[in-house]
Amino acid sequence: MRPSLPIAFCFVATQVLATQAAFAQSDRDILFQLSTIDALLAGVYQPLATLDEVLEHGDFGLGTFAGLDGELVLIDGEVYKAAADGTVRRMPGDTATPFISLTWFDADERLQPPPDQDYAAFKTWLEERLPSPNLTYAVRVDGQFAKVRYRSVPAQKPPYRPLKEVAKEQTYFDSENIAGTLIGFWCPSYVKGLNVPSFHLHFLSDDRKSAGHLLDFTLTEGEVTLDPTTGWTLELPMDKAFLRANLGADRAKALHAVEQGEQ
Ligand SMILES: [Zn+2]
Repeated sequence: MRPSLPIAFCFVATQVLATQAAFAQSDRDILFQLSTIDALLAGVYQPLATLDEVLEHGDFGLGTFAGLDGELVLIDGEVYKAAADGTVRRMPGDTATPFISLTWFDADERLQPPPDQDYAAFKTWLEERLPSPNLTYAVRVDGQFAKVRYRSVPAQKPPYRPLKEVAKEQTYFDSENIAGTLIGFWCPSYVKGLNVPSFHLHFLSDDRKSAGHLLDFTLTEGEVTLDPTTGWTLELPMDKAFLRANLGADRAKALHAVEQGEQ
């Protein structure tokens, strides 16, 4: 009966190795996030990391730039800035960001949305098809849009005002009959304070000349690809702007106003 102990030990060791392997396989399925959405709402627009530093964690995502200087779109490893003046340009690796969410995008699920959906109908349609409301999903939509409404925010100078105040000065853009991609995430309601519950998408046209934070659309036809993310890495900046920010307040209403473009 002597072998029983070694056999039991081997069993445990195998289980441990199997678990490690499972985590290793899901390394690409991690959402990396710098700072929190509530810190951004509170006006923490300071440079907290460079693109080179954060792009080690993914090739797909969204965010903003230091000083709230425009909307950030990350697609296929390339970062674009949608400025409030309507220009769109690729940004170099030494550009700084105060807030970004990104992941390595794998097209794990492909879905065909019904034609001519607006954003409200699209949200309902896609939420009914998510494998679970308790995971985070990277969402990519490639298609032809009859209409897209998006916005960008103007660069700020310190002392920074809360995002809800700055958003009153945002610029709205409308494009018609345009091919492009929606890039972003769907997050569960329990991420409130850290990220944006439900959908947060940015738009980038195929010709890379139009981009911004998505407000509404009519999607003539397209394809949705989903990448469920089963882990989060939250990087909390050791910057005094972040350390001193009041992150105890409930900013859900401010977030709703900012995300929907209400004034
Ligand atoms: Zn946005």
